[in-house]
Amino acid sequence: MDGDTIAAIATPTGRGGIGVIRVSGPEARAVGEKLSRLKLVPRRARKAILLGATGEALDSGLLIYFERPASYTGEDVLEIQAHGSPVGLSMLLERCLELGARLARPGEFSERAFLNGKLDLVQAEAVADLIASGSRRAAKAAMASLRGELSRVIGDLDRDTRKLRAEVEASIDFSDEAENFIEDEGISAALRALKEGVSEVLTEAERGVLLGQRQRLVLAGAPNVGKSSLLNRLAGEDRAIVSEAPGTTRDLIRELVEFSGMALELVDTAGLRIAEEKVEVEGVRRAREVIAQADLRIHLWDATKPETRNVWPPMRQDQAKLEVVNKVDLLPIDEREFSGCIAVSAKTGQGIQALRKQIEACLGADEREPAFLARSRHVESLKACSGHVDDALRFQKQGSGAELVAEELRRAHNALGEIVGFTTSEDILGEIFSTFCLGK
Ligand code: GDP
Repeated sequence: MDGDTIAAIATPTGRGGIGVIRVSGPEARAVGEKLSRLKLVPRRARKAILLGATGEALDSGLLIYFERPASYTGEDVLEIQAHGSPVGLSMLLERCLELGARLARPGEFSERAFLNGKLDLVQAEAVADLIASGSRRAAKAAMASLRGELSRVIGDLDRDTRKLRAEVEASIDFSDEAENFIEDEGISAALRALKEGVSEVLTEAERGVLLGQRQRLVLAGAPNVGKSSLLNRLAGEDRAIVSEAPGTTRDLIRELVEFSGMALELVDTAGLRIAEEKVEVEGVRRAREVIAQADLRIHLWDATKPETRNVWPPMRQDQAKLEVVNKVDLLPIDEREFSGCIAVSAKTGQGIQALRKQIEACLGADEREPAFLARSRHVESLKACSGHVDDALRFQKQGSGAELVAEELRRAHNALGEIVGFTTSEDILGEIFSTFCLGK
């Protein structure tokens, strides 16, 4: 623990009704009292004029002081709710720094909460994931992780592993009973049960990871086949909670929408052609990169122009693809079916529902509510744990001796500890917290 006092603006940059500065550490209360010349009582909001170095008023607002350990970080914490003015907040922050705080690193408040045992690592990550969530389901699942759902299931596995380790290690001490150990059906059964438990959590964690990830769908096709129209159609119904301003780049049009509970980035490659015409090599390269990274490509062509079929940019072997024919409203009713192709009309909405279902299937959308949000890091550790339990089982079966079984169980246990932060190295901790927002 550094023991110093940190401060940061916790609200996003830009103007708003309220802007919050957070201060955490031993000087937090003193900073608040010097800033306001008021006496602060824990957990009571005080309206205050916030003063500069020469006693001039910088702003007015509310001060709330939380006495350790009953605070987010577990240290003394001061929250300054001022007006949401970027200039005003910078002046207030500077004043806090003059009064003895230093600027917090990204994620440092949560890191301190973790180091002080207020949150385990999974919960601290859930805070960042909740902030970053791109869909309601992701937000709900992140909240479940923050409330300890993932930590709880990992805790159960941890307890079972610990118990089993103790049994196996005890049998090492009575080496003349090694025979008994090898034949011990109880240990084999417990190992198998542990393996099953790990694999259940792993399956759920893999679903949780998927939920937290943004998937990318690219619309590719010749000019005028209706890519933009289809993008609008697909985005339209879900546009309510577009979490990033729809951005039009020079090369690609992207829109982030919530689609069947997933955060989906829709990319229209309309600009690709223009870029090629103008020989904007860099733009084309970037566009191709985005297309190559897409989780799903929709190849769109125009029902009234058969020559627009089969003019696709090259794709990765493993990339999922759907072929869609648009503008079927322009065809006679009995000619609106195509084999191997989903027929739609971006204009009338015909076939869009069927297309949605196909997209959901390709992207692995899952109607079940996931139990928690997880990260790839958790999945990796669970896989490592599962591998060590497998090895332990194998050694046990081969009668290789209790030492080897115990060693594999120790490793399995360690892998579980990495998830919640018991055995996580400092480098990994640093990496995790550095991706957090400033002021969190
Ligand atoms: P893009 O160049 O591939 O993005 O194509 P646009 O979305 O700009 O569409 C080109 C033209 O086709 C526009 O005039 C659209 O109104 C029209 N269009 C797009 N989809 C349909 C459709 O399903 N039916 C009909 N009749 N016209 C469409």
